[in-house]
Amino acid sequence: AELDDPSNEDVKPPPLAGVNVMNIILVAAECAPWSKTGGLGDVAGALPKALARRGHRVMVVAPRYSNYPEAQDSGVRKRYKVDGQDMEVNYFQAYIDGVDFVFIDSPIFQHIEKNIYGGNRVDILKRMILFCKAAIEVPWYVPCGGVCYGDGNLVFIANDWHTALLPVYLKAYYQDNGLMKYTRSVLVIHNIAHQGRGPLDDFSYVDLPPHYLDLFKLYDPVGGDHFNIFAAGLKTADRVVTVSHGYAWELKTSEGGWGLHEIINENDWKLRGIVNGIDTEDWSPELDVHLQSDGYVNYSLDTLQSGKPQCKAALQKELGLPVRADVPLIGFIGRLDQQKGVDLIAEAVPWMMGQDVQLVMLGTGRPDLEQMLRQFEGQYNDKVRGWVGFSVKTAHRITAGADILLMPSRFEPCGLNQLYAMRYGTIPVVHAVGGLRDTVQPFNPFEESGLGWTFARADGNELMHALGNCLLTYHQYKESWEGLQKRGMLQDLSWDSAAQNYEEVLVAAKYQW
Ligand code: ADP
Repeated sequence: AELDDPSNEDVKPPPLAGVNVMNIILVAAECAPWSKTGGLGDVAGALPKALARRGHRVMVVAPRYSNYPEAQDSGVRKRYKVDGQDMEVNYFQAYIDGVDFVFIDSPIFQHIEKNIYGGNRVDILKRMILFCKAAIEVPWYVPCGGVCYGDGNLVFIANDWHTALLPVYLKAYYQDNGLMKYTRSVLVIHNIAHQGRGPLDDFSYVDLPPHYLDLFKLYDPVGGDHFNIFAAGLKTADRVVTVSHGYAWELKTSEGGWGLHEIINENDWKLRGIVNGIDTEDWSPELDVHLQSDGYVNYSLDTLQSGKPQCKAALQKELGLPVRADVPLIGFIGRLDQQKGVDLIAEAVPWMMGQDVQLVMLGTGRPDLEQMLRQFEGQYNDKVRGWVGFSVKTAHRITAGADILLMPSRFEPCGLNQLYAMRYGTIPVVHAVGGLRDTVQPFNPFEESGLGWTFARADGNELMHALGNCLLTYHQYKESWEGLQKRGMLQDLSWDSAAQNYEEVLVAAKYQW
């Protein structure tokens, strides 16, 4: 406890980062707990804290989508031009868990937290332009703890296409003019499927010298030449990270790179895969605040055999399913779209319903898939719940109460739900792709090793085959099942080791190794 007390300087450990202590600014369009639509928000909320624990001075810059009570107005006002129009921004800030959080305030960000990437293409583009322009000058103008970061020993971490303009602006506006000479940028690919594409005319919005157009120009067999923000960011950033080794490999293939694979191959020397960590306080069966009421209980490896069944019973009760310990409870949590392979689950539902199982699906997204969830619930009311909505509490409760978590994603850069599941003794059944392949080693009954079940192709039959094997083990090999649970729960999934890998990339960017 004394080590955690920041006022107790004597016992504070020396920074792990040693001589490489840096100023690090992570810039992202979403940051949990304030804003989150998926994994990016979780990463932006957690990685900076882990980097700060290593001794770096760390800031997160995100848009201010609504009034965040923790964050105070810094009083700093700046104006930036977007599409010829002068826009004023304010900067709000909070210092939490060793990290400076700076929220950029402008009317164009307000009240869109439910729809961060919504609106027409040009509106989104303008938001991201203002955000990147304003974020890049935060180290100059916004004092944190009384002192600005400055641009000397500074590395920006930009994330996905939304902030892929930042490395470009850093070069075009500053470094080409002899400013911010020692500042570096790293661009993280969380999902290549969204790229900031548009017609070539979009170049007029980004406000750059004409010779920069080439960076953005990409040829596409379908649409011909087009404008692509991710392409420009990937070429310009000093280093590129993506969120798993499997995905790093897939990005270089024509199927996995979504038109950017050639650029990624050309820049392979600066690409590295680093598997995301998880917030081990938020997602801990021992501490989980969502398991402290309504019949749920916290549990640990020692109390797994009593605690988890209690959570399962509480979940069955809360959802109005028959409360039975012996029926395998299968969960799914995620965006309802083509990526997440919800249609593969749908293919398997008739087969599943012939078994003694319960199925709980939580998600939002495509209206037809939302409708499908409701329809399954109506059709198989004694076995299926299809919860359409975004509910963090329910996600935690399903993770704790389910025996099995399905993740048949067609592609999955990292995937977090399988990591959460394993921490809670819930066994993942996944399509072996991207981060799912990195993190779920298949069960080997001969060696009693592995963490779950995987299948090689995004195909309903393969899903059924894997799930069938999983159910067999659940029913007939209790010891193997407990071994799977235990190995999953004992893994170190914290951000600490991921943060160390990020640090290596940041150091490499800084010294241009
Ligand atoms: P992606 O970023 O592709 O959406 P990830 O697995 O990396 O997928 O992260 C998804 C995150 O969003 C997880 O924290 C997951 O629990 C959460 N999530 C997704 N859908 C919902 C939902 N309907 N309700 C609550 N949380 C959700």
